[in-house]
Amino acid sequence: MILPDAVQRLIAALERLPGIGPKTASRLAFYLLRADDSVSAELAEALSGLKQKIAACSVCFNITDAGRELCQVCANPERDESVICVLEDALDVLALERVGVYRGKYHVLGGVLNPIEGIGPEDLKIRPLIERVARGGVREVILATNPSLEGDATALYLQQQLRGLGVQVTRLARGLPVGGDLEYADPHTLLRALQGRQQVE
Ligand SMILES: [Zn+2]
Repeated sequence: MILPDAVQRLIAALERLPGIGPKTASRLAFYLLRADDSVSAELAEALSGLKQKIAACSVCFNITDAGRELCQVCANPERDESVICVLEDALDVLALERVGVYRGKYHVLGGVLNPIEGIGPEDLKIRPLIERVARGGVREVILATNPSLEGDATALYLQQQLRGLGVQVTRLARGLPVGGDLEYADPHTLLRALQGRQQVE
């Protein structure tokens, strides 16, 4: 390569990020080279110690600031505790919060069941969800895993686990692209899916 080591390293690091190919990585690296020092300093500061600055909410497993017990949603007394929306990951919380109409709480599973990859119920935050519902005060659980094979299988499993707990179980309406991710759905589609959710049993 004709590039200095430092630039090569930066391009290689950027290329490892999802959705960034060699061309975009090079373009970003050269942008940073040309931009004011403050741009790369700010980026470096934001990245440094990122994981140590983040913790999981003790109730819903959404991300929160390290040292805090609850995430912003769980800590907000105005959010309706009787409705829990179950999501695959914290990025989906962001997608639903962007829609701006959901006033209930969340539960982040941390993935979906995937027997081929060896991911079983004990690898996800399923037990804490069941315990949370069993403690009472929950009226509805919205299963909002992605409309994929694994997302549907996970929803079905949860539906079975929640049976007998006296809670209404609903699934986001179709209209979300099958195989798509909630995070990529536009807010309007997501809003329609939320409003048109259906009882699963
Ligand atoms: Zn929380």
